[in-house]
Amino acid sequence: MLRCSVSMCNMKTIGLIGGMSWESTVTYYRVINETVSRMLGGLHSAKIVMYSVDFAEIEECQANGDWAKSAEILSAAAQSLRTAGADFIVICTNTMHKVVPEISSTVDIPIMHIADATAEALLADGVKTAALLGTKYTMRQDFYKEHLTERGIDVLVPDDGDIETVNRVIYDELCRGVISPVSRAEYVHIIGKLKERGAEAVILGCTEIGLLIDEQSSPLPVYDTTVIHAEKAAKYAAGTGEI
Ligand code: GLU
Repeated sequence: MLRCSVSMCNMKTIGLIGGMSWESTVTYYRVINETVSRMLGGLHSAKIVMYSVDFAEIEECQANGDWAKSAEILSAAAQSLRTAGADFIVICTNTMHKVVPEISSTVDIPIMHIADATAEALLADGVKTAALLGTKYTMRQDFYKEHLTERGIDVLVPDDGDIETVNRVIYDELCRGVISPVSRAEYVHIIGKLKERGAEAVILGCTEIGLLIDEQSSPLPVYDTTVIHAEKAAKYAAGTGEI
């Protein structure tokens, strides 16, 4: 445990862009504070400012392919967090990392990238081939996978039918707080197929999937991006590690 007074610690302030969906932002808030408490002890908790968006507005942009508008909304959020005292930004969703280049160009504080944090966790454990579950945007497009493949990690995604199933459960259930045993069984079956294709681990590459799947239910070791991202943010804020 790192023992220090708050003035000695000089803890960084985390800027969370949440609400995508709020179901998983709750997990970020809890994991960040649990990690800081574990590290610093006593009554220490994380310094956080949060901008929580209306997810319906973001989802409409996604469905219309209007990524420019979503980038504007999230850039405004990032600037508000900067003004409120954030030292760095954490975007609490995998999918919206698609517009990180646009957001970065509008703020002068760093963004802690969720796929880079995940790649580091996989590499630390020697995982070379990982299955990726997430929204259809995360699974089909390159903006996320390239952060893994650039580091030498092979990424397997489900077949087209299973991509639709995984995506539907995220938007119709998990982002609305619905946790279904039927959907859990479907996910387990899909992860099993990816294991047969050679995956050594599964990336829960959507911040709500950890609400449905855990180490016990999964046929493969689980890399939950929400937990990985939140823990890395907490450690960096408390003075260890890098962005
Ligand atoms: N939270 C999800 C993710 O990590 C999906 C919601 C969104 O589209 O942002 O990708």
